[in-house]
Amino acid sequence: MCTEKSYGGNNGVREHLGKIAKNKGKSPKQINKTKNQTQKTQETITSQKNNINKNISEEESYKKAGEIANKIRDYAKNLIKPGMPLLEIAKKIEGEIENLGGVPAFPVNLSINEIAAHYHPTLEDTTLAQGLLKVDIGVQINGFIADTAFSMDLTPEKKYKELIKASEEALENALNILNKNPSLNDIGKTIKETIEKKGFSPIINLSGHELKQYEVHAGLTIPNYANNNNTKLEQGAYAIEPFATTGEGKVIDGQSSNIFKINQFRNPRSPTARKILEYAAEKYRTLPFSLREMQEQFGNIARLGLKELEQIGAVHNFPQLIEKTRQPVSQAEHTFIKTKDGKIIVTTK
Ligand code: MN
Ligand code: MN
Repeated sequence: MCTEKSYGGNNGVREHLGKIAKNKGKSPKQINKTKNQTQKTQETITSQKNNINKNISEEESYKKAGEIANKIRDYAKNLIKPGMPLLEIAKKIEGEIENLGGVPAFPVNLSINEIAAHYHPTLEDTTLAQGLLKVDIGVQINGFIADTAFSMDLTPEKKYKELIKASEEALENALNILNKNPSLNDIGKTIKETIEKKGFSPIINLSGHELKQYEVHAGLTIPNYANNNNTKLEQGAYAIEPFATTGEGKVIDGQSSNIFKINQFRNPRSPTARKILEYAAEKYRTLPFSLREMQEQFGNIARLGLKELEQIGAVHNFPQLIEKTRQPVSQAEHTFIKTKDGKIIVTTK
């Protein structure tokens, strides 16, 4: 998503990840190559951790990530019941992504009601699933990402049914015009009109986006309103993600989401901070990761370690994104690739 919901941007950090992961002076591409040439055992360990499989192409990687993400959508829909702890849901979903051979491209977002995005439980979190829950899932294979989301109405009276339909229909209508080679404005206009026809508002400062290797938000932004941008989509991978609300249709920054991303190479003082940086660099590179996983890996001291990393500018801490008027928000999202010959393939369906 755009400025506020931006998991993108490398700022040269990739060049340093090699160092952090003890592969001095090599870019991630070189690291992949080197790993390919090392012994089988080493290769297996690496593959298990950050899922590098050089035997499949970029397009196949996108498709494989999409296939897993689609299975995770079904898995999550069956799993989630009102009253279930978000912590349990997060652990099970991320465990299942790894069972299916993927790596989370970002911590699963489990955002309730007016929280539009960027909620992920810590180990101490006791929040239970309720209300209007958005489940936003990221899966990567070789760094090529599938990004998909759906909303669940967990109220007994199903009071968010229409609001959920609005974002789903907006997504469907947007996907359905892709074969007409629409401009960004055309896509945004379709999304806005579909949502407004149902009596709701799109969130205009959240948007779809281009995806690149190890970058969730890269390049183009796909608006959720008519923005007069006549740019057309080139070959590449993209996510479309309409958000619909009964509120004003803007998000503002809330408290910390406990989702982080390596920002810049820095040398931390504490061993825990160093360990977190090494672990995140190897497994996620420039992709987001959670405090929760670091708590599981390194104990509760991970909280202090991440605070140190934030203070020295090594990591970015994403804020929760809250609807400005505190009204409920629904979301729907799919990823597609546009091939060299202009073919559209939705990877997450
Ligand atoms: Mn997205
Ligand atoms: Mn998403």
